[in-house]
Amino acid sequence: MSRYVYDFHEGGRDLAGLLGGKGANLAEMTRMGLPVPPGFIVSTEACRAFLATGEEPAGLSAEVSRHLSALEASAGRLLGQADDPLLVSVRSGARFSMPGMMETVLDIGLNDDSVLGLAKVSGSERFAWDSYRRLVQMYGSTVMGVDPALFEEAMTLLKEAREAPDDVHLDAGDLAWLVETYKRLIRDETGRDFPQSPAQQLQQAVLAVFGSWNAERARLYRRREHIPDDLGTAVTVQRMVFGNLGADSGSGVAFTRDPATGRPGLYGDYLANAQGEDVVAGVRNAVPLAELERLDPRSYRRLRDHAQTLERHYRDLCDIEFTIERGTLWMLQTRVGKRTAEAAFAIAAELVEEGLISADEALARVGGDGLARLMFPRFDTGATGAPLTHGIPASPGAAVGAAVFDSAEAVRRAAAGERVVLVREETTPDDLPGMVAAQAVLTGRGGKTSHAAVVARGMGKVCVCGAQDITVHPEARRFTTRDGTVVEEGAVLSVDGSTGEVYAGAVATVPSATVRYLETGEQAGSAVSAVARALEHADHVRRLEVRANADNPEDAARARRFGAQGIGLCRTEHMFLGERRKLVEEMILARTDADRERALAALLPLQRRDFTGILEAMDGLPVTIRLLDPPLHEFLPDRMALAVRIATAEATGGRPDAHDVELLDAVNRMHEENPMLGLRGVRLGLVVPGLVAMQVRAIAEAVVERTRAGGAPRAEIMVPLVGAVEELRLARAEVSRVLAEVGEESGVDVRCPIGTMIELPRAALTAGPIAEEAEFFSFGTNDLTQTTWGFSRDDVEAAFFSAYLDKGVFAASPFETLDRAGVGRLVRLAVAEGRAARPGLETGVCGEHGGDPESIHFFHDAGLDYVSCSPFRVPVARLEAGRAAL
Ligand code: ADP
Ligand code: MG
Ligand code: MG
Repeated sequence: MSRYVYDFHEGGRDLAGLLGGKGANLAEMTRMGLPVPPGFIVSTEACRAFLATGEEPAGLSAEVSRHLSALEASAGRLLGQADDPLLVSVRSGARFSMPGMMETVLDIGLNDDSVLGLAKVSGSERFAWDSYRRLVQMYGSTVMGVDPALFEEAMTLLKEAREAPDDVHLDAGDLAWLVETYKRLIRDETGRDFPQSPAQQLQQAVLAVFGSWNAERARLYRRREHIPDDLGTAVTVQRMVFGNLGADSGSGVAFTRDPATGRPGLYGDYLANAQGEDVVAGVRNAVPLAELERLDPRSYRRLRDHAQTLERHYRDLCDIEFTIERGTLWMLQTRVGKRTAEAAFAIAAELVEEGLISADEALARVGGDGLARLMFPRFDTGATGAPLTHGIPASPGAAVGAAVFDSAEAVRRAAAGERVVLVREETTPDDLPGMVAAQAVLTGRGGKTSHAAVVARGMGKVCVCGAQDITVHPEARRFTTRDGTVVEEGAVLSVDGSTGEVYAGAVATVPSATVRYLETGEQAGSAVSAVARALEHADHVRRLEVRANADNPEDAARARRFGAQGIGLCRTEHMFLGERRKLVEEMILARTDADRERALAALLPLQRRDFTGILEAMDGLPVTIRLLDPPLHEFLPDRMALAVRIATAEATGGRPDAHDVELLDAVNRMHEENPMLGLRGVRLGLVVPGLVAMQVRAIAEAVVERTRAGGAPRAEIMVPLVGAVEELRLARAEVSRVLAEVGEESGVDVRCPIGTMIELPRAALTAGPIAEEAEFFSFGTNDLTQTTWGFSRDDVEAAFFSAYLDKGVFAASPFETLDRAGVGRLVRLAVAEGRAARPGLETGVCGEHGGDPESIHFFHDAGLDYVSCSPFRVPVARLEAGRAAL
């Protein structure tokens, strides 16, 4: 026969699965000899049995009775005994903390008789009736299902009638009246009476707590926190101690350190003459613990000692619930406490210093998400008025800039050194240059998975999206808010991506202390030096290298300061934008080889200059340069815009611009229904004559230049979107030919590794043969995810990902966290077969997943050599690569 009930003396913290976190920790404190009121725990197994059948599991009530008898014997009185009642609490508590989501009933055992007994033995009528009204209220709502607001209402009316500012000012007569009112309320609402039998109260309360596992809010909380639905809750039955016994009693919560900053020293709130719930519920204003030190120094010192004992025992920050009954301190709950990112780093470092944990353990207790939060810039607090508007906080941080309404204007102003905020109804890939140039992006439409949000997060750029009360008028270069405020181009905005609020004017921002440290090495404050130590240790233990995705010298230099060990992805398409678009146009429109060669020749020195700068910034470290990847028509003007321009010219009797007509013709010719799967990547290199040669020549000549300048350039050339080894063989031949040519001309050794991206399932599946032609693999997990799932990212994310998340198709977007089962399997396969064909094949990843904590752990497990991510994610990746190696 299974066993469902455990005494506090029988449990311990390692039994949280069976006894729930609360029960297991109460048992642990009992074993440590801390003052815990005695009690027993009904296991989660019993709850699961109850939830499965809807019936109380056989044998449970006998077991509960047995444990209750032992509790009664130790207390020397019976549950609800008329002249001197034992009272108990019935408390929920699951394996994972779900604060306030389930139910707890206090003061079980009181009824119309025992309330009088309690009054007599305690010497306080007020206390007895206060406890009774609490029981009827909690039992009425939790067990009998009466709307808690009805009880609140009755209480409020009574306080008004008595002109009592709070419940402490109600006397025994008031509270007795309230009990009658509550009981009547229960009868009116449910047609049943509040049960007078203590045994029945206990039994029903236990079942009600079981049932509260499936309360709406508990389910919602579990979904958000990814807690499984089938764990169930344990139920703790514990002798009551009383904080509501007068001025020398009270109840409070404490942290063994400040959970916001990590600063050592007891931290918390206390409420005199109150039962536990009152502190959190905020019925009266609690006072800081310093006040308790004044009121009751002995209890305060005990609490501080116990806090220290707990922290040493758990070797971590703990939070504590406690009650003082007439000068005696009781511990009612503890657990390892939640904390901010700042506190997490500070505490971990501090505990290493105190010799409580190892550096490995400290590293395990901090995380990349927290580090990323510490890297966001801050608004100087206290400097803001009312916000102009607000939307969804999509990418955190604080940014200030002049409002601009299109990408070109953003680029133009940014080039002139101005900070701008790009304001759009929503963004498209065309807005990318503007987003790159802007400090922040503000949109009127779209949610957290909208283009603006996703791209901004990827770039570490501030973004507020879906600010519904603004209307954007790009032609008029202004937006309006619902209350009629007009914001013209150039007006300064402050955008808080952490709160979603947008202010008119410049609210001062400061780079976070963590970023200052990463940029300059300056360690201001304990949290920053804690971050420094965590990163140091991560660098020491990690096996994965960390590179950055960067395509200009500034980003490369920053990435290097942030600890990047090279560039894993240098995109060349951004080098084809801006002024150079004209030349790209000429190349595309060329009618003769000579025309095309002229355009390519004009592009060559510009590309060379780009590469020289990047190779210089990353001198001595590898720079993986990807040959042109996107379809060429992305560099031509928008089809619709051209058509409109031509039509307008015709309609007004003029002749359309000949160049426009030519362009539209080219755009129409090159139009693709599905550009993601069209003429791009290596395909482009194989069919557009001279393109690969020009790019490779620019790289090789940059290598020559850097070598002659005394540098150590380490360019690597990467061919995108290969699906068949034949494609790579052809591209490689061309690359090698040009390298040899430049080598010969210059007399400088320009050999560099030639590798490929693995971003199509076919490439992964034929990785063996491909590896024979490739000196390295770089997994482009963005495209590999798109092509493996058959998802067009731009189309699916906004359209239905939130529905998919809700329905549990996946727990996180596969574009944010690598899909191990599918895409991950292809990665593993390609690594294994690639290395079998070419021992020592270098492998890395350059998709956005390279900066995602969970994905980094996968890449470590899969045995990759490096991850590459945006410069701002480099410290995050270093940290997570270290944690993955623990
Ligand atoms: P939650 O999980 O919502 O915090 P708890 O089970 O911890 O619920 O109980 C709510 C409050 O009741 C807590 O503040 C706790 O301190 C108090 N409480 C629980 N059991 C007792 C008890 N035996 N004696 C006195 N107060 C108690
Ligand atoms: Mg609690
Ligand atoms: Mg790609």
